[in-house]
Amino acid sequence: MDESRKRPRDRGPLSREDVTADSPFTLPGFFAELAEGRLTGAACSDCGHAMVPPRPACYACGSRAVAVEKQPRAGEVVSYTAVHTPPPAFEARAPYTVGVVELASGARLTGRVDADYDAVAIGDPVELTVRDPGDAELAAALDHETDWPIHVFEVR
Ligand SMILES: [Zn+2]
Repeated sequence: MDESRKRPRDRGPLSREDVTADSPFTLPGFFAELAEGRLTGAACSDCGHAMVPPRPACYACGSRAVAVEKQPRAGEVVSYTAVHTPPPAFEARAPYTVGVVELASGARLTGRVDADYDAVAIGDPVELTVRDPGDAELAAALDHETDWPIHVFEVR
């Protein structure tokens, strides 16, 4: 096997050398999976805590026995707010809604909610959708982020 094309490790414990740019435990690795339609997270083998995006150590107990697992796209709103003063690239969209969603796995992920603030409530069921970045997202993206897909929660 060509060592330079070795598949990155998808379970811990990871060494420093395992966390390369294409590792599924980094944001570039996470967004590469998402661009292929796979929502991934890390599940802790010691306490069961789930994290999206995947992280190389558990936020709940500190264990490094974590493994990348596919995550459900369904969840519910646990917190939300209206953004009235966005970054310049998103001024035309204001106000827009951003929420923290707890997925069915227990992992929490922040993202835009595709509904007016007044139409959202804590506990609302939502589904994560993924699309290519538009002009506003591309204008706001760093060079290494321009290939990253955009995730939006739709109220079901
Ligand atoms: Zn844990």
